[in-house]
Amino acid sequence: MQTDETSLMSEQPYPMGPGVRRATRQVRVSWLGHEVLVGGGAPVVVQSMTNTDTANPIETAIQVKALAQAGSEMVRITVNTPDAAKEVPAIREQLDRMGVNVPLVGDFHYNGHKLLTQYPECAQALSKYRINPGNMGGGKKRDDNFVQMIEVACKYDKPVRIGVNWGSLDHELMARMMDENNRRATPWEAQAVMRDALVISAISNARRAEEIGLPGNRIILSCKVSHVQDLIAVYRDLSARCDYPLHLGLTEAGMGSKGIVASTAALSVLLQEGIGDTIRISLTPEPGGDRAREVIVAQEILQSMGLRAFTPMVVACPGCGRTSSTFFQELADSIQSYLRNQMPIWRARYPGVETMNVAVMGCVVNGPGESRHADIGISLPGTGEVPSAPVFVDGERTVTLKGDTIAEEFQAIVEDYVERRYGLAATSSENK
Ligand code: SF4
Repeated sequence: MQTDETSLMSEQPYPMGPGVRRATRQVRVSWLGHEVLVGGGAPVVVQSMTNTDTANPIETAIQVKALAQAGSEMVRITVNTPDAAKEVPAIREQLDRMGVNVPLVGDFHYNGHKLLTQYPECAQALSKYRINPGNMGGGKKRDDNFVQMIEVACKYDKPVRIGVNWGSLDHELMARMMDENNRRATPWEAQAVMRDALVISAISNARRAEEIGLPGNRIILSCKVSHVQDLIAVYRDLSARCDYPLHLGLTEAGMGSKGIVASTAALSVLLQEGIGDTIRISLTPEPGGDRAREVIVAQEILQSMGLRAFTPMVVACPGCGRTSSTFFQELADSIQSYLRNQMPIWRARYPGVETMNVAVMGCVVNGPGESRHADIGISLPGTGEVPSAPVFVDGERTVTLKGDTIAEEFQAIVEDYVERRYGLAATSSENK
């Protein structure tokens, strides 16, 4: 090395990776001999929510199944009417008949105390209740309703999420806090008082639930807002003031790329700081769009950050003036879809395959280098290059593909690689 390069070398590697995970209690969400762990060092859990009418059990069970197959590890359903509450046990049974192993979470507002007490089969069939303390009436009635819901949770040994939302923040608490704020020598901005009120509402209701008799390891908290900086500030504050596991999500994130970008920006900062035990991406679906998109985005956030692995990742270059066609985009897209579609089968058959990296690159500039770094990669020919596509496996150049069947041949090479590398892992672990 040259002298100036040697003098620039670091004493030790620059640190990377997320911060130390926040220590929390651990909540068990269980059903029929299965359980999902939230907090206490468990992997960050992906969850989602249906948008079907829960009073229609078939439609709801089908959507829960689709969300679970996409990778949702908990699915929340709306329980808003007696008809919806009556159908919850049928939805659970239908899922069990279909072999869909996912816990159902009931989302309650306004009348949850009545529904949970009047429909005990519903209360039993659900694995967790989401309670919004801002939507439970006012004054003494509010406390009575809250007590009723917590007593049901105690009776059936169910965990709850106390989910505060700035769109339905407890008005009485907010009014009291604004009065207190006006007495400060230098009053805070209303937005800061609102953030403080969210945190206080969540923690004080959790403490009240414990007073009523719900163990502390049956409580998850969330404080959802719809602006990125508010969410980050609220969760930093909340995480410092309690040790309940936290559910993260930017509420009303919006549609398409706006919703994805805003959710990713907010959640990435918090996850990097070790905050967050379960996440949901609240995307507004496009008309006729796939509800499972929110699950895939949640998985991609966690996998991109190196926190969990769900499905093999495809690294693809963006393309530029060196690419002569859209072929490499089409190949990247078809390989990504193929890998995701295989996962329901591969997950069990090829343990570890979810950590595989595949590169699909558009030309010789970065193609061979990036392909070598991947487990398996292909460098397609750019404009003016020889029409051939070298394939790299575990960093070594193996074959060169040519002609009209490059896509099919590359997919076959990927399949063969998966069988050889991860099939062996499965076999050896079975033989242990
Ligand atoms: S790898 Fe080639 S085609 Fe892809 S972005 Fe880089 S220079 Fe452009």
